[in-house]
Order: sequence, then C-alpha cells, then structure tokens
Amino acid sequence: MAEKLPFHRRRKVFPPCQGCGDDPGFTWACECGFALCHTCMAAQAERCEANGRSWTCPICHRNHIGPAR
Ligand SMILES: [Zn+2]
Ligand SMILES: [Zn+2]
Repeated sequence: MAEKLPFHRRRKVFPPCQGCGDDPGFTWACECGFALCHTCMAAQAERCEANGRSWTCPICHRNHIGPAR
C-alpha cells in the first residue's frame, strides 16, 4: 500500500524583515525588496500608510493588499 505523504510545499518564500532583521516566516513584502514583519509594519503604520489589509510601500509607493484570510 502506497503511503500518501502530505507534501508541505512553500507557496511563497518571504524575505526577512528589513526593520529588525527577523525572519518570522511571513513579511509584508514588496517586489522592490522592501519587507517588514508584523511588528515593524505596526510600528511604521504611518510611514507605510497601513490601513487594515492594505499598505503602501514607502520605497516605490506601490499599493499592496495584504493576504486575505
Ligand atoms: Zn521586523
Ligand atoms: Zn516597493
């Protein structure tokens, strides 16, 4: 009987946080390389114009919608 092992594939690899250097497994990341963890995003909410699930990259000013849960 063949075993069916669940394969844990990573959908996406998130870069480490640029604020604190931590790699929490998820960061609010931009295509330009900017990335912040939850804590740093909260600390820089004004700079990133964070508003609920959306935020704006302070580097390239792309608008992002956070992950839908
Ligand atoms: Zn951080
Ligand atoms: Zn950006």
